[in-house]
Amino acid sequence: MMSDVVVVGAGAFGVWTALHLVESGAAKVTLLDAYGPGNPRATSGDETRQIRGGYGAREIYSRWALRAMERWRKRQQEFGRQLFYPIGRLEMAPTATAAMQATARVLDKLKVPIEALTPEEIRKRWPQIRPEGIGAGLYEPGAAILKARETCIAVAAQFQKKGGTLTIARAEPGSAASGKLMDLKLQDGGKLAAASFVFACGPWLRKLFPSLLGARIATPRRDVLYFGPPAGDIRFTYPNLPNFSESAFYGFPSLDSRGIKICPTGADANFDPDSDERIAAPYQMKRARDYLALRFPAMRDQPIVATHVCQLENTADEHFIIDRHPEWSNVWIAGGGSGHGFKHGPVLGDYIARRVLGGNPEPELEQFFKLNKA
Ligand SMILES: Cc1cc2nc3c(=O)[nH]c(=O)nc-3n(C[C@H](O)[C@H](O)[C@H](O)COP(=O)(O)OP(=O)(O)OC[C@H]3O[C@@H](n4cnc5c(N)ncnc54)[C@H](O)[C@@H]3O)c2cc1C
Repeated sequence: MMSDVVVVGAGAFGVWTALHLVESGAAKVTLLDAYGPGNPRATSGDETRQIRGGYGAREIYSRWALRAMERWRKRQQEFGRQLFYPIGRLEMAPTATAAMQATARVLDKLKVPIEALTPEEIRKRWPQIRPEGIGAGLYEPGAAILKARETCIAVAAQFQKKGGTLTIARAEPGSAASGKLMDLKLQDGGKLAAASFVFACGPWLRKLFPSLLGARIATPRRDVLYFGPPAGDIRFTYPNLPNFSESAFYGFPSLDSRGIKICPTGADANFDPDSDERIAAPYQMKRARDYLALRFPAMRDQPIVATHVCQLENTADEHFIIDRHPEWSNVWIAGGGSGHGFKHGPVLGDYIARRVLGGNPEPELEQFFKLNKA
């Protein structure tokens, strides 16, 4: 059986694209993943991700995120499981940063509720936060936590229910002729032919297309640490604490009793998503612990109860890459989520599917997503 489209990669970019392709009714679709949807090596394979409208001056992503919020709410009903947890997001800084000011301007323009908070107001609203050294707070009440790996599993299941084929296999480009890719080479020696291909391989894109993407996508690691709150203490548990962020740290309240999540930023070396071990670095554990003690005094000395190490797939300008392969007109590259791609899944997948099927739904966006920018 020949597929019309094969999507390689069942992370956020791939599953949502595959689902929209199959829903279009225009294509027979196969979704391939080397390790399975939501696997722990994938950038989408962590427990949770955040959705927020605040994007500094990057209004295009604010607009997409706001559209995505509506779709997440509808999709979780369709899938019959909660994936979207409204909670709000508090950004803190010693003084209002240019990015906070730009966020406030854009969200005001888009009529998204937002509140500027003083340290006293932060302390009053969430007494479990100590706003030491904080001079400015920006609160976006509409922000939410998304279930990450569970979403990949749920979307892949819906894709199959609607007629798509999911296969666990590693693939790489196979033979090509007349400016087109003819088939994929599978790890077991098999081949898979199709009319079009979408490579949505996140941090693996630079390994699959080293000369094209090796220098365009960087894959630094990120350590994610979950700290267990004191027994019986629900002040750090959803929905009693918002998502929070400041310069080198961000985090979420404990969801499903996993513990309060802290992610220290930093680290630049490329991480190998296949073979590097995912053991949290003592240095990052210490940084997270020190931050926790400063900002949430009741969490001082609480233990790390779980860790997750993942990797980003950053482009230089943090725009996604959604473009045709320069040599094969029937091959699309979709990735470069750059630390903010997950939330857009339901909008992104729709957009990519339409591009693959020959449309260009928002032509003004094409320039941002190009491999080669003018
Ligand atoms: C610490 C951290 C925090 C983040 N926080 C947020 C956030 O709060 N909000 C947000 O919106 N975004 C966030 N992001 C970004 C977001 O998680 C990513 O942009 C998004 O998950 C990337 O999805 P993807 O589908 O491109 O890649 P992946 O999820 O990595 O999926 C790629 C898939 O391709 C498969 N694959 C690879 N190569 C092959 C092959 N040759 N054959 C078959 N299968 C293959 C892999 O197994 C994998 O399942 C964060 C990222 C990190 C690292």
